Amino acid sequence: MRRRDLLKAATALLLPTIDLRPFIDRERLMRPFCDTENLRYDCTRPFLDGEMAYATDSRRLIRGYLDGPALAGAEVRVPPVSQLFDRVWRDDLRWREFQLPAIEQLIHRSNTGNCPACDNRRIVLPEYPEWNHEGRPKDRTIELLDYDIDDNSIRDASCPVCRGRRYDRGNALELDGTCFDYTFLKPVAAIPQVEWAVVQADLGNRYCDPRKLLFFRSQVCELSGMVCPLDAVPV
Ligand SMILES: [Zn+2]
Repeated sequence: MRRRDLLKAATALLLPTIDLRPFIDRERLMRPFCDTENLRYDCTRPFLDGEMAYATDSRRLIRGYLDGPALAGAEVRVPPVSQLFDRVWRDDLRWREFQLPAIEQLIHRSNTGNCPACDNRRIVLPEYPEWNHEGRPKDRTIELLDYDIDDNSIRDASCPVCRGRRYDRGNALELDGTCFDYTFLKPVAAIPQVEWAVVQADLGNRYCDPRKLLFFRSQVCELSGMVCPLDAVPV
């Protein structure tokens, strides 16, 4: 998969991170936009830049004003997303109400093969399986569920859409001729009264060409953000 990223070659900043409070709607809605692990930057928590709080996993970005945000301690290395925002954001667009269609209506798929319902969720087996003479699990079902010997895990067969098997149907949503990962859009769709527009944006660095981005905003929640596109083909 060609990993498209909003932040190629961006120089890190040191900024304070914040703890999200799940009982505050606006903070809870930002949580899914954080990264799950520390890679080049520490984006596992939102951070403050000036008056605004930002959360990003480098492919999605959200920002908003928080009332008296709970500071989480020391400053960490984060990408300069406020500059990116200031560079590309526009309000004078044809905003449309955003609604995520049902999975069955998706007619594009990306080569990630990710299941749009469970995002290829994995579960760790309670104990190691019995092995055959080739050193593979004797139980063929475990093999079909993409057994990973490193962490003794399989795909989750309880997912009603993929049943833990290889998924080759639609998993990308086309908006204005550009495809986006369906799973990535779920936290956008969760924002009340969210609107969208697809925009050709110049990310302002020599490593990537201008590209289409999904912009979203909710005036009622005072949140706004953007999502990178995905390479996808018709199913
Ligand atoms: Zn699934």
